[in-house]
Amino acid sequence: MPVSDYDPTSLPDLLPLYYRRLFPFSPYYRWLNYGGVTKNYFQNREFSFTLRDDIYVRYQSFSNQSELEKEMQKMNPYKIDIGAVYSHRPNQHNTVKSGSFQALEKELVFDIDMTDYDDVRSCCSAADICSKCWTLMTIAIRILDRALREDFGFRHCLWVYSGRRGVHCWVCDPAARKLSVAARSAVAEYLSLVKGGEETVKKVQLSDPIHPFIKESLMVVERYFSQYALAGQDILSNKESVDKVLALDLVAYFQSEKNPTKRWERLKSLVHQKRTSSKKATHADKEIMLQYCYPRLDVNVSKGVNHLLKSPFSVHPKTGRISVPIDLRELDQFDPFQVPTISLICEELDRPRSTEEEAEETKENEKDAGEKRKIRDYKRTSLAKYVKLFDSFVEGLERSRKGELLKKSDLQKEF
Ligand SMILES: [Zn+2]
Repeated sequence: MPVSDYDPTSLPDLLPLYYRRLFPFSPYYRWLNYGGVTKNYFQNREFSFTLRDDIYVRYQSFSNQSELEKEMQKMNPYKIDIGAVYSHRPNQHNTVKSGSFQALEKELVFDIDMTDYDDVRSCCSAADICSKCWTLMTIAIRILDRALREDFGFRHCLWVYSGRRGVHCWVCDPAARKLSVAARSAVAEYLSLVKGGEETVKKVQLSDPIHPFIKESLMVVERYFSQYALAGQDILSNKESVDKVLALDLVAYFQSEKNPTKRWERLKSLVHQKRTSSKKATHADKEIMLQYCYPRLDVNVSKGVNHLLKSPFSVHPKTGRISVPIDLRELDQFDPFQVPTISLICEELDRPRSTEEEAEETKENEKDAGEKRKIRDYKRTSLAKYVKLFDSFVEGLERSRKGELLKKSDLQKEF
């Protein structure tokens, strides 16, 4: 279904259906409840809703899954954001003595937005994306996910498509949720390489020895660079973009070579010559690759404990696309234009059922349960595989938690 088939003015009609029959409340609640890790963990979580006409309501909070469901079905938010777990219930923050209402915990989050790459992509600009520049998001996920798992030891990273032009990451490990503002800043700084604003021409500066993290990141970039930057963005083709690349430090003339891959080889060998002839090492080729492809983080989103981030399974009001989890096992095949829109999945609900589905339905009706009804509804739509993925993510969290609890009780037995 092309995006043009989604009409933003239909949103008020579609949202009630979405929240009544499709939104995956059960795994969503299980996720944010974290097995009831501490008293009121879910109850003290801030949600914020963007309603019709951009009315923004902060400090929403709910006692349990049923209250969350009822409120969402009543308010039908255009957009849902998730904030921190506070010291008190966010919806009662006005009744708490000032200063004592504090953000205590939140997932460590990352926000990567395609607009931050505008100086290095030629295919689109601003809010537009295409399959060519989407590779930048694939590279970002590969680099950051590896670092979060291998360098920091986190295991529960949920990657989510933002619904329009970027991706979010929710690191949900208990240790990540407890990080202080200072520790979050340190992680975000460690992961940031591309620095400086518009006026800075050279945004990546490497020094010897190259940090192992940068070496690992370069290996990822190298896998995509030729296809993405040389073929897709054609960074070594026209004079303007060549000037831009060469302005990054290289004084080389290679206009006689027309093939972009060969031009790049030439450029690399020039860097190599320079490196062997001078005492001062140069990493100009690596710096170019990183400047063009390295993930650009919105550091402020990661730093703050109380910073809000768009919730998974929220709708993007402009595109109608659902913020769905991304399956890293099929990352290279992920296509943002294939992500279902709210109009598509609502329409799928109305499609006549096959006899198989009807038989299944009768069986489940015999078991009868309100919950079953909801499961069956999204299962009939393109949302099903994303809910399944989310469900297995939540199961992974629950398994770890059970493992931790077992360890603790075994320790208690020993002593
Ligand atoms: Zn593009």
